[in-house]
Amino acid sequence: MTASFRFELSGTDRRARLGRLTTAHGAIDTPAFMPVGTAATVKAMTPDAVAATGAQIVLCNTYHLMLRPGPERIAALGGLHRFMNWPGPILTDSGGYQVMSLAERRHIDEHGVTFQSHLDGRRYELTPERSIAIQHALDATITMAFDECTPWPVDEKTAAESMRLSMRWAERSSATFVARPGYGLFGIVQGSIYPELRAESIAALAGIGFDGYAVGGLAVGEGQERMFATLEATTPLMPRDKPRYLMGVGRPDDIVGAVARGIDMFDCVMPTRSGRTGQAFTRRGSLNIRNARHAEDSRPLNAACRCPACRGYSRAYLHHLVRAGEILGAMLLTWHNLHYYQDLMTDIRMAIAERRFEGFQAAFAAEQALGDIEAL
Ligand SMILES: [Zn+2]
Repeated sequence: MTASFRFELSGTDRRARLGRLTTAHGAIDTPAFMPVGTAATVKAMTPDAVAATGAQIVLCNTYHLMLRPGPERIAALGGLHRFMNWPGPILTDSGGYQVMSLAERRHIDEHGVTFQSHLDGRRYELTPERSIAIQHALDATITMAFDECTPWPVDEKTAAESMRLSMRWAERSSATFVARPGYGLFGIVQGSIYPELRAESIAALAGIGFDGYAVGGLAVGEGQERMFATLEATTPLMPRDKPRYLMGVGRPDDIVGAVARGIDMFDCVMPTRSGRTGQAFTRRGSLNIRNARHAEDSRPLNAACRCPACRGYSRAYLHHLVRAGEILGAMLLTWHNLHYYQDLMTDIRMAIAERRFEGFQAAFAAEQALGDIEAL
């Protein structure tokens, strides 16, 4: 029997929440980090390797998949899980954000967005109905409502118009979504940094009713202070019994701070993209393995990390691989970074379970501030 889509809160510590989201394709312990698999692949990683880092769900991008290879082809090949050989839960975004950031000659109106592909110039249309139909064809475990990601900076009047358009699109997204056991549809709260708009957006979405609620329109250049202030005003108004997903966030300290403000789910290209440019995350902040100080360093990236890059290879070797442009360099650093992010989420969940999240937060910040280990 297929599992129903449900979210259970098992503990809280102040505003930090510990929970579990059950879906048709498996369960997700929250707070959770979702690696980004834009084009039906987490770049430089096999699905087995992604799962070995501890990830329980991945995110794929509707915009990229609608352009190439196309949702109909993926559906004909058995859906996204079979196509990419990831049997676990998959969340797809609605495509709206990438249309705004990547596509050319965009036109947006009440109906939706028309645009030219950044790949071959072909014209496409994306509407709430089309976005939901594409995500259905992909067989996404979690479908996101189609919205307009309000750009930054923005005045309150423009943010209000953008948010209200997204709320009308949320209604159309909900009307199009075909409910199936174990599958869910998330609405997206907009309203930029304006608390009254966020409150209006939450009321509108809760009136429609969704399986989860995302906070959109943050991490778009407003800075961490404004992002945290917005979360502080927003999450207390969100339905308590549904998962809360902060889209596109973020750096490790963004995640820790957002968990403290009541967020359950995250996604970001940071660990994967950084892994391909030589940047590694550790408990003591980030480092660039290209730096000459690592050239003769026989120690691992992080002696305490259990990932393949740290168990089998020296900083000197990783430095050499990345400097030489070897594919294995990107693979190992991506693996390490995803492993670090998942270890961070495990530590966060343990701290909430043991009701010592505040102490964890202080220790995390202190360790990050230390910086990388001394050069040899
Ligand atoms: Zn490692």
